Amino acid sequence: MQDFFQGYKGRALEVLKKYNVRVWGQATFETTRGQFVGTVLPRSENDDDLHIVMKIATGYNVGIDIETVTKAKETGYKKANYKIPEKEFPYTEGLPSVKLFGTGGTIASRLDYRTGAVIPAFSPGELYGAVPELADICNLTTEKVFAVFSENMGPAQYKQLAIAIGKEIENGIDGIVIGHGTDTLHHTASALSFMVQNSPVPIILVGSQRSSDRPSSDAALNLIHANYAAGHSDIAEVLVCMFGPTSDDYGFLHRGTRVRKMHSSYRSTFRTIGDIPLATVSRDKIVLQKEKYNHRRKDKNVTILPYFEEKVTMVYYYPHMNPEIIDAMVDMGYKGIVVVGTGLGHINKELYPAIERATAKGVAIYMTLQTIWGYVHMFVYDTGRDLMAKGIIPLGNMLPEVAFVKLGWALGQTSDLTKVKEIMLTPINDEITEREPYNGYLVYQGGKGVPEVEKFIKNFRK
Ligand code: ASP
Repeated sequence: MQDFFQGYKGRALEVLKKYNVRVWGQATFETTRGQFVGTVLPRSENDDDLHIVMKIATGYNVGIDIETVTKAKETGYKKANYKIPEKEFPYTEGLPSVKLFGTGGTIASRLDYRTGAVIPAFSPGELYGAVPELADICNLTTEKVFAVFSENMGPAQYKQLAIAIGKEIENGIDGIVIGHGTDTLHHTASALSFMVQNSPVPIILVGSQRSSDRPSSDAALNLIHANYAAGHSDIAEVLVCMFGPTSDDYGFLHRGTRVRKMHSSYRSTFRTIGDIPLATVSRDKIVLQKEKYNHRRKDKNVTILPYFEEKVTMVYYYPHMNPEIIDAMVDMGYKGIVVVGTGLGHINKELYPAIERATAKGVAIYMTLQTIWGYVHMFVYDTGRDLMAKGIIPLGNMLPEVAFVKLGWALGQTSDLTKVKEIMLTPINDEITEREPYNGYLVYQGGKGVPEVEKFIKNFRK
């Protein structure tokens, strides 16, 4: 028998039945909070029974609290097709071969723009059905490695991906794209920057901030840019490819060790920190912004270093932090701690004995910055000098998340703290740079327009 109430249960189901409104029905709900018009969407097993979920005309999904419903009426019914049409991905002689690894996230889960239902779409045929332009860019093969939101990615997944990437490179692929949730995309990007070294081809991580069912989705364009960069770019590095400006003019290619998600909802959420992006990418063009990078090669040599010590943590300092927090980690057997300190790299005096105890016990402790931009400078104040004397090692302008991943990776290879220090302080791909470029740090704070920023840049161009 056909299920007209897919996923609904309890009181929400009663409300739907009472008003004869079905899943996939076009309906009008009168509520104490106003009127909602849209399509009733199915729910999953784990959802509550207190809401009815609708897709409204803007493309957003809204949850209607059933307690507020005063009246409802079904005005039409059109069962949505869950499946994206499978079209055979055409093979075109002469186009580069690109492998797309899917790990999950928004970019993978909502490619059915009509229904907004959560569906995996990662066979080449489905992707071709959803983004046919990809066929003009490359010969694509795909593999769903994981299907998780990126908060569920971690060291085990980084290692598995690194090994899978190594195999593809040895088999002669021309470029790799990794579809990934945006929330922790920069963690994975730095993990792969360390675990996959000397790659002869581009490795491009891509996500999307808005699901494909929304008119403003960045999913298709980001995929097009990422595949173009993977297949055609000369930059053989681990890069993140996401919207550049707030419009869809171009994407940025960010170096995997210098990138960070900086806005919870903007499509242009990824920014290169402490530097400028490596290049911009459009549908058929890559424009370099930096000159130095690893060039594409014809060989199939790559070094895969899939190591990670999971007893590593990151501590975000706040005033008057209790030293018990550091003590507890040491007692639990943590081998490495990345401190995210204030200003130039500070924490309060109350923590000093705990830090001393930790380093004496052989815990590796490194300092990074809450300011995100700038360098750790622990020589400026005596507090910084004291901390270094107690064994904390400053990490220049390495981003906190990158430092955390690198420390896990370093301690995964050796427990010799001198070697760990050498690994930490020797940049593999710009995770520590000598200086920030003048045109990197720009935070536009209003005023009468961008001229302020222009003036700032001109001062340096004189
Ligand atoms: N929470 C999602 C994730 O990171 C968001 C996204 O894909 O953009 O997997």
